[in-house]
Amino acid sequence: MKKVVLLFLTAIFVFSCFSYSFAEEYDWNKIINDEAEAKILYQKAVDYVKQMKMDVGRDIYMRFEEPEHVKVHASNGGRSGENVFAFYRPMGPELIFMPKGATAIDFYTAAVHELTHAWNSSNCPPQDRSVNEGLSKWMEFMSCMAVGNRSKAGRILYESSVRDPIEYKVVQHLMELYKKGGIDSVKQYVKTTYKYEDK
Ligand SMILES: [Zn+2]
Repeated sequence: MKKVVLLFLTAIFVFSCFSYSFAEEYDWNKIINDEAEAKILYQKAVDYVKQMKMDVGRDIYMRFEEPEHVKVHASNGGRSGENVFAFYRPMGPELIFMPKGATAIDFYTAAVHELTHAWNSSNCPPQDRSVNEGLSKWMEFMSCMAVGNRSKAGRILYESSVRDPIEYKVVQHLMELYKKGGIDSVKQYVKTTYKYEDK
């Protein structure tokens, strides 16, 4: 009988080590070249977006491609491909293009960013780029904090402030709204705002 109890406790211990490991011991700096691993990270991004009630209620497939190909798809979709890392294509068919060779944390947060664009394009009127990108940046930041990666979270904010100060103001504004009224306030704001205005 004692043996059974001991075995049971060992099983619980081993199981908790495993479920613990993704969040705490996962190597977020590792390079993602393997499609199976990319799919796991993409699913993790899908789960996060769902948890934040920003999912679109349908599956959006991910295409895992060389970074140059992602840029080509982006410029075919009307974006200037140069600085594109990942890309959401709303139709023909709807897809998210993700690059090979990125670090796990860059891959994961970019997937959250693109999935948020999908929510935005289904739920918000056409709006100023700063609002649209600000929402995706804010989600990127939040997903990064959720896995405890503060250095990347800091980088996301810094890069946003350098790239587009208005976008950065939107990110800060969304943080305020989230603190006061949760995700519903954030969604309400982006659904009804065409352009950010200082108040
Ligand atoms: Zn974007």
